[in-house]
Amino acid sequence: MPRPMVHLAARPHAARVLVLGGTAEGRSLAEALQRNGIDAVSTLAGRVARPRLPVGEVRIGGFGGVAGLVSHLREDGYTHIVDATHPFATRMSEHAGAAADRTGIPIIRLARPGWSHDPRATTWHWVSTLDEARERAEGLGERPFLTTGRQTLDHFHPWRNRPVLVRVVEPLEEPPPAWTIILDRGPYAVAGEQELMCSHPVDVLLTKDSGGAYTSAKLDAAHALGVPVVILRRPGGREDIPQTSNVTGVLDWLGVADG
Ligand code: NAP
Repeated sequence: MPRPMVHLAARPHAARVLVLGGTAEGRSLAEALQRNGIDAVSTLAGRVARPRLPVGEVRIGGFGGVAGLVSHLREDGYTHIVDATHPFATRMSEHAGAAADRTGIPIIRLARPGWSHDPRATTWHWVSTLDEARERAEGLGERPFLTTGRQTLDHFHPWRNRPVLVRVVEPLEEPPPAWTIILDRGPYAVAGEQELMCSHPVDVLLTKDSGGAYTSAKLDAAHALGVPVVILRRPGGREDIPQTSNVTGVLDWLGVADG
C-alpha cells in the first residue's frame, strides 16, 4: 500500500528518503539519517562482491531504468531522493533526475568537492575523455599507473603490451599479461602509495577527479615523486537540481536539525 506524500517541514518524522549510494558520502548520510530517526533506504548498484554497507535498510541492484525507478519510488512511498552516487556515475544520476521530474519527488545531489581546488591542480594534465587521457599520458611516461576504474579499461587496450599498473576493486576477467593488477580500495595512506609507485615503478598517474580524501593520497605521492598526473574532468550534472557537498546540507534541505 503506497504511503501518503507529506510535507516534511511540517512533519519531519514522516519523511521517507531514498539514498542512491555507493559512496562514503552516502554511508555518512545514512548514519546521520538514522541518528535523527529519519526513515531511509540506501541503494547500491551491486557491482562489488563485498560492498561496504551503509547502516540501516539497504537495497542492492538496479531499478530497471527510469521506469523501474519511478515505480519503485511510488510503490515504496518515498518523499525525498538524495543522489549520493559517485561523481562519475552519470547514468544513475540522469535516471534519478528524470524519475524526480516524473514523480514530482524533490531531489538533491550530494557530491564531494572535486580536486580542482588543490593548489597543485594547475600542474596536472586535465582531460575530458578517457581516450584523451591515454594520448596525453603517452607523451608523459611509459609506465602508467591506472586508477580510473574497471569500467574504463577498454580505452586502454592499446597499452596491452605495456607495463601498466592497474588498481581496481574487483578482479578482472582476462587482463593483458603485461599488466600488473592490484586489488584494493581506499582509504589509502601517502606512505603506502609512494611505496607502491616506487616498487613497480610508475612514471605517470591517471585518475578521475573523484575528489574526497579516500583516494587522494596518490596525488600527494605523485607530487613527492615528481610523477605527472593526468586527470579526467568531472562530467557535468543537471544545474536545476540542488547540490550540496556535505551531509549537513542534506539535513538542512530536509528540514532536520541534527541532534
Ligand atoms: P552508472 O553507470 O551511473 O549506473 C549504471 C546502472 O547501475 C544504473 O542505471 C542503475 O541501474 C545501476 N545503479 C548505479 N548506481 C546505483 C545505485 N546507487 N543504486 C541502485 N542502482 C544503481 O553507475 P556506475 O558508474 O557503474 O557506478 C555504480 C555504483 O558504484 C554507483 O552506486 C556509484 O556510486 C558507485 N561508484 C562508482 C564509481 C565510478 O567511478 N563510476 C566509483 C566509486 C563508486 P538501473 O538502470 O537498472 O536502475
